[in-house]
Amino acid sequence: MNRPTTTTRVSLPCAFLRPLWLKIFLMLLLTFALASTIACAKGISSAGATAPAPKSESPATTPAPPEAAPPDSSPLPHIDSNPLPHIDSKRAFQYTREVTAFGPRYMGSENHKKLEHYILDHLKGDQVEDDAFAADTVAGKFPVRNIIAKFPGTKDGIIVILGHYDTVYPLRNSGFVGANDGGSSTAILLEYANQVRGGGAGKKRDGYSVWLVWTDGEEAVRQWTDTDSVYGARHLAEKWEKDGTLKRIKALVVMDMIADADLDIVRNTKGAPWLLDLIYAAAERGGYQSHFYAQQGPIEDDHVPFFNRGVPTADVIDLDYGYNNVFWHSPQDTMDKLSPKSLEIVGDTILETIRLLDQR
Ligand SMILES: [Zn+2]
Repeated sequence: MNRPTTTTRVSLPCAFLRPLWLKIFLMLLLTFALASTIACAKGISSAGATAPAPKSESPATTPAPPEAAPPDSSPLPHIDSNPLPHIDSKRAFQYTREVTAFGPRYMGSENHKKLEHYILDHLKGDQVEDDAFAADTVAGKFPVRNIIAKFPGTKDGIIVILGHYDTVYPLRNSGFVGANDGGSSTAILLEYANQVRGGGAGKKRDGYSVWLVWTDGEEAVRQWTDTDSVYGARHLAEKWEKDGTLKRIKALVVMDMIADADLDIVRNTKGAPWLLDLIYAAAERGGYQSHFYAQQGPIEDDHVPFFNRGVPTADVIDLDYGYNNVFWHSPQDTMDKLSPKSLEIVGDTILETIRLLDQR
């Protein structure tokens, strides 16, 4: 629905429906950017903050295989011998299944309400806040509700993990259930709540505070633009700018479409290079690096309002979902395309990233 016939946008917004020719063009660009992506991964071994090469300058040479970062990489922390933390991927997959089973969960819908209760049911006893408001959109007014669970830590500063739980409004009557797009992000955050929850009421986690944010209104109600997208994230970024929260955020990581059985996380260049590198280092620790950063490019997602305000952000997204991305924003975005292994790969990697951040 609402598939545009032309566009000059180069970035790949999560919810932006791109025409076929543009997809092919962008896939070619991403392929040509492969060599420079690997150069960035190698950059971990030098400054750790290598700026990605502009796409127009990307060499089209055969890339060398990626090398492991040496142990004394700076500013990355020393990689210790601690065991890699693991999520319960079976449980996370079950959450994905249960969330998807609600059906379409677009802003303002009954199923959306049911999902809000489902999320809150899993956060009983936790410190939970609402960021609720009415969004004025091109399709009318919608109730928007970000759900924030706060897990206090011993260190001064906040790590924010954020993922959207709404599904695509224009596809509301198409049978679209967003197993990967909306379902997987909701589920991984529920699993992270299990992981970061301290050992009892009032007990702080050893490290920074971790805030989990289920964002609402990530998807456009008509067609992706700066003003028709990321409604919840824009509201929250503005609010946190005013109350001083933004300055306390050490890192903000967005999880989106992370359960594709054929997992390939793009290096979203709209992000802090050091944080992207840290995530890669965490992936390497699990032996997961082959699922990360074979492609790179700028993608718009919930992190943008924070990124634009100078917060160190990373958007962890697989925007290559099915051949030629056919399952993306399609009724074919269903559970059978997903794998618990992918949730484990991404889930463990970002859990390890949190651990590495805690050491900084
Ligand atoms: Zn989407």
